[in-house]
Amino acid sequence: MTTATKKTDKRKLSEPIALQSVMGMRDILPNEQAYWQQVRKVLEHEAEEYGFSRIDTPILELESLFNSAIGKNSELIKDELYTFSSRGNDMVALRPEMTSGKVRAYIEHGMSALTNPLKLFSIGSNYRYDKPMEGRYREFFQADFDIFGELDPVLDAQIIQVAHRVLEKLEIKNIQFSVNSVGTPESAKSYSELLIAYFESNKSKLPSKYRDMIDTNPMGIFDSKDDKVIQVCASAPQAIDHLDKESREHFKSFLEYLDELDLPYVIDPQLVRGMSYYTRTVFEIFSIDEDGNKYALGGGGRFDRLINDLGGEHTPAIGFSFGLDRLILEMKRIGVKGYEPQVPRVYLAQLGELAKKKSLKVFAEVENAGMLVAESFGRGNLREQLRQANKIGVDIALIIGQKEALDGTIIVKNMVSGIQETISRKKVVSVLEIELKSAENFRKKNGQVRRVVGSVIKKRINRTHRNRKKS
Ligand code: AMP
Repeated sequence: MTTATKKTDKRKLSEPIALQSVMGMRDILPNEQAYWQQVRKVLEHEAEEYGFSRIDTPILELESLFNSAIGKNSELIKDELYTFSSRGNDMVALRPEMTSGKVRAYIEHGMSALTNPLKLFSIGSNYRYDKPMEGRYREFFQADFDIFGELDPVLDAQIIQVAHRVLEKLEIKNIQFSVNSVGTPESAKSYSELLIAYFESNKSKLPSKYRDMIDTNPMGIFDSKDDKVIQVCASAPQAIDHLDKESREHFKSFLEYLDELDLPYVIDPQLVRGMSYYTRTVFEIFSIDEDGNKYALGGGGRFDRLINDLGGEHTPAIGFSFGLDRLILEMKRIGVKGYEPQVPRVYLAQLGELAKKKSLKVFAEVENAGMLVAESFGRGNLREQLRQANKIGVDIALIIGQKEALDGTIIVKNMVSGIQETISRKKVVSVLEIELKSAENFRKKNGQVRRVVGSVIKKRINRTHRNRKKS
């Protein structure tokens, strides 16, 4: 037994390691990355197209931020927030959503002084201690779009347009926006009283967890996924019937914009959101299958009071988040492909120690000229390397053998025609550009051009042979 093995064994005895990820959290393996890359690419592109600036805020914030922003009585805070005391005894929490941190940063950095409206985009992980199941994880990823500083309902419609555009680009076609208005805290006050009275009279039908919410967060009960609760909520008074005049007008105007944009929406009077900071417009984004099953992909709404409530200037705002995990599940369900990376068209093979050294430089030069190069520097066998080049399907193989390493040349082998020539290493980029073009033409025009390409290359080879003979 080697010393290294002995050491490993000793550690195994003293600290057993459970080789599994934490419940509800998972590894995203290389074979999954094509989807993640595609989703990120589309989201980042659309964020840029619509004028959003990227902002990254920490995953960890003071717990008090989430309590104040999301509401102490919300299910998200009471049951799902990951909190702990840091070594310095600060009570901190892993972010369960991204808006709270963004608003904290907006106030902290005096962003109200920047041009309005200010559009901010984030992408990253969130944490909720929820019951894990497919599509519901304890660590999950969101992309968050927020617009600060504008009350006009045209922005409510624009934010839906952004979401719609992202889904279109991801080829998720059968979508629906459920929209509602929850009014303002003032209009919600009289509505809350009606709601409390309704839930009180139906208290016996509610599970105990929800009975406790009747007085503290009656609207939050609508956010439940529990069938019994959903049944009780079905006949409850609706916020939309109790809106103040401005909220009603805002909602009407928002719907007119949606009609104008021809966006697929339905009004869902039962719709409320898990965070208590929402005012007026709220919405959720669904994908729908052939049987009418709905898959929640994202949601959002206005948070006109939140910046002020957290100590900033009065600043209306609206935003939404997409769940990346859900977008990917949906892409897979409907059979959309992930990102397809470019396949290298050039392979760099080498033989011998000196050739390996020269290869590193050639690799950098070719890659710097914008061409993707595959290589296998660890392998010494030329046949094996060329076999790999064939497997990848490259158009050109560059070969540096012992002789080429010494005399400053390189072999350029056209894998399409099978013809090769030896050139000066200094010319590698310019010759490659020509060769790649001719290989492409060869592929496009097929047999027709074979002779032409072949003869051009043959001429060059003959020239190279002549030059070799001379030297
Ligand atoms: P919310 O922040 O609760 O409004 O959720 C917005 C979107 O994030 C949802 O529509 C889901 O797509 C996604 N999401 C929320 N919670 C989870 C979770 N636990 N696991 C995976 N995705 C989630």
